[in-house]
Amino acid sequence: MAGTPSVFVRLAGCPLRCRWCDTKYAWDETAGQHYSIAKIVQTIGQAKSKFVVVTGGEPMINSDLPQLVQKLKQKGKHITIETAGIAFIPALPCDLMSISPKLSNSTPDDPELAKIHEDSRLDIAVLRALIDGYSYQLKFVADSEDDLPEIQQTIEEIGNVDLDKVMLMPQAETRDELLAKSPMVADMCKQTGFAFCHRLQVLLWNSE
Ligand code: SF4
Repeated sequence: MAGTPSVFVRLAGCPLRCRWCDTKYAWDETAGQHYSIAKIVQTIGQAKSKFVVVTGGEPMINSDLPQLVQKLKQKGKHITIETAGIAFIPALPCDLMSISPKLSNSTPDDPELAKIHEDSRLDIAVLRALIDGYSYQLKFVADSEDDLPEIQQTIEEIGNVDLDKVMLMPQAETRDELLAKSPMVADMCKQTGFAFCHRLQVLLWNSE
């Protein structure tokens, strides 16, 4: 839940190259600093919160993810995995799979990147498997009201989605953008009954 103090582990590597990605520095799988799993688990053990969010990049393509979350679970952590829903790993000790399928509003302008993005951004079978295999929430990034038909079509294609678990989040990299788009997304939520998802970190710390 937004506002719950949590430790974030950001794993490097994501092939999608979304146009508005706010963590471009994590795209390359060699980005950041290398830590052993033991060091990550030890560092997280010093935090007061038992909530850990494993994010990226795209954590579900990282071959060390199963071992990392197993070790964290052994330490009694509550684990959320944030994923674009492009890869499936069964039986992870994950308390919440936070799935954010990417819409066409995220397609990059560069034609080469756009092709890579379009080839892999939406895999209905993977989304279905994640929803069947885990406790989940389904979070769509909304850039304009025009996104609503595509969101509804994606939910329909996945099939059998618990609509109480669907959230809409404003696309915003800065506080000004967030404040400008939030009323529009709130209206979309009122129309559909989907939940409004904050970007509390943007509200608090802008684009830092
Ligand atoms: S899936 Fe997430 S991390 Fe990957 S490019 Fe898109 S917004 Fe960035």
